[in-house]
Amino acid sequence: MFLRELLQSVTVLKGVGSEKAGSLARLGITNIAALLCHYPRDWEDWGLTVPLKDWKTSQVCADVQIVAKDWFGYGPTKTLKLYVEDETARVCLKCFKQPFLETQFPIGIRARLLGRFEYKYGEIQSKSFKLKHIRNVYGPILPVYPLTAGVKLDFLRNLTRQAVSRYAKALENELPESVITRDGLFHKADAVRAIHFPASWQELDRARKTLIYEELFYLEVMVAQRSLQRKANSSGHEVAPQNEDLSKEDLSSLQKRLLERLPFALTPGQKSAVAEINRDMDSPFPMARLLQGDVGSGKTLVSFLAALKAVEAGGQAALMAPTELLARQHAESAARLLEPLCIRIAFLTGNLKASGRANLLKALSSGDIDMIAGTHALFSRDVEYKNLRLVVVDEQHRFGVLQRQAITAKGNLPNLLMMSATPIPRSLALTVFGDLDVSVIADLPPGRKAIKTHLAKESNEGKVYDFVRRELEAGRQAYFVYPLIEGGDESSLLPYDLKDAVSMADRLAKEVFPDFPLALLHSKVDDEDKRKAMEAFRRGEIKILAATSVVEVGVDVPNATCMVIEHAERFGLSALHQLRGRVGRGEDQSYCFLVYSDNLGDDGKKRLMVMLENSSGFVIAEEDLKLRGPGQIVGVEQSGYLKLGLADPVRDAEDLVRARSDVFEILESDPALEKPPNKRIAEVLERCPPFSEVGL
Ligand code: ADP
Ligand code: MG
Repeated sequence: MFLRELLQSVTVLKGVGSEKAGSLARLGITNIAALLCHYPRDWEDWGLTVPLKDWKTSQVCADVQIVAKDWFGYGPTKTLKLYVEDETARVCLKCFKQPFLETQFPIGIRARLLGRFEYKYGEIQSKSFKLKHIRNVYGPILPVYPLTAGVKLDFLRNLTRQAVSRYAKALENELPESVITRDGLFHKADAVRAIHFPASWQELDRARKTLIYEELFYLEVMVAQRSLQRKANSSGHEVAPQNEDLSKEDLSSLQKRLLERLPFALTPGQKSAVAEINRDMDSPFPMARLLQGDVGSGKTLVSFLAALKAVEAGGQAALMAPTELLARQHAESAARLLEPLCIRIAFLTGNLKASGRANLLKALSSGDIDMIAGTHALFSRDVEYKNLRLVVVDEQHRFGVLQRQAITAKGNLPNLLMMSATPIPRSLALTVFGDLDVSVIADLPPGRKAIKTHLAKESNEGKVYDFVRRELEAGRQAYFVYPLIEGGDESSLLPYDLKDAVSMADRLAKEVFPDFPLALLHSKVDDEDKRKAMEAFRRGEIKILAATSVVEVGVDVPNATCMVIEHAERFGLSALHQLRGRVGRGEDQSYCFLVYSDNLGDDGKKRLMVMLENSSGFVIAEEDLKLRGPGQIVGVEQSGYLKLGLADPVRDAEDLVRARSDVFEILESDPALEKPPNKRIAEVLERCPPFSEVGL
């Protein structure tokens, strides 16, 4: 029996009637398998004894006697105080909202106490503690679970205890025996018992390691199967070596013509990316490649070169961007660079008027358009391509495997190029994009000056404005970015007043920079106005853009040298990095000002310091990850891959890489999983596929 085959209803357990079953269902616990996979979020050590006298240095865990009681406060806030002591000290427990403790723990009784103490109002006291009757302390280390209304901790502990003792022993291993032995892991039966009720911290550690490895192992089985399938389709086709050089002969004639027209040469990173892409596109099998490069590394140009190759082969290219703004910018640069080469370019968003849309769709399906840029509207149901050969997906880390499939379904196995400036740490790339090949542009175009970053308190914003004024007077342009579009209701929930784009645009235009033309840009601005504002900013007629983070992605105006981000503390580090990347795109020295609220705490300041000390998107992403955890990284959750229980691909990166190599080794030598030691894996996949619900 595998764990996920324990499909008996939880009602087989003592104490679970239909009402409790309903409450448990809210936690997703309907059957025994789900109950046993409802892992503790923490564990309490009731075994270790720390006498009361040591309250200063650690959490206390002691057997105590209730010696006195008292009440303080009046009416609804009337609160019970219990005095307890062991051989070493006497302390006070403030029982906020727990008047029932008076009857549960009458004077004279002995109990086990777990809690943190402080010295206040002349006594050693605690308001965060737990008391247990000594007879109820059944194990030294007890699990603490995520709970919900109607499901109390002791109740859930009781259920898992029953389930463990009735079902865990019969569980079969899902990992190959050889891996279990090699890594000193638990057998599944022991791992399940020990994750809930470990006899020691060492046991808990081993149980966690086992279950984490198992999750990562099967995650990689999924990834490996897809990736090997793709490679098998292209059998005989050599995988392009990394970092190869791009020689003239490797370029198609349109590519050569474009490069001759450019005032600059490709960077080494761009060259090797183009070489890899060309190699992929020449092979008879579809490309599936992720192009990673920090902001400003020149990914767009690489995608244009790929588009030329597709068009030259008689096909069409579609370039999808996350926002209309960015899609339009791509269409405009494409027009500037590619129309002289007689490439027919179009632009499609969801907002196109019906008649224009109909014409455009006709041209697309008849092959009168070579390249189209747009938002996800490019892949609406009614859009047909004559011969879609290349799909470029820009800055869309939200695109998991499923979305990738939907998009590529528009053509006859078109080539796929995903581009991202959000540096995804390697470990995550292996899971989220584990089925893609990766090209990295590690360098920036030459001559770029490092952006000077400054922190400023809100009360010093006048100085920032003065600085920006000098840049504007020198003919440059500036962005001002705010966390909100408009003030109002939303801001009343926030701890302090936030500046918003709308009212600050007004203030900047009227009071601060009345002599410089300004435009307001946010997601609610009418599309036509947005386009006009952006165009005027690009042409330099508008000097100041007051915006929300809509300018975060991709916007490219080299003459803009100042990025002022107000309430910078309200943005994630990766978002700040993206925003900062909007400047420093030309020859001139650029500046980024992170203006933070006067009452920002030390932790918040420390976070912003990361921006001061680092310019590499990779380092910043890693820091962001450490500070906020992987759940916050854009796209990882939506990727559809990560329905993991205990494992965390970032924290457990080492295990992930090991699991990956284990899995590839197994699958490469035995793709059908027929050899006896690998049969177990095939059985698991057949009887209870671990990630089936995400449709891999
Ligand atoms: P990103 O990788 O962030 O999408 P872009 O494609 O927007 O970067 O490129 C940033 C800017 O760098 C653009 O103005 C582009 O024209 C310019 N650029 C691209 N490649 C080069 C190069 N090899 N040398 C100089 N400038 C370049
Ligand atoms: Mg870009």
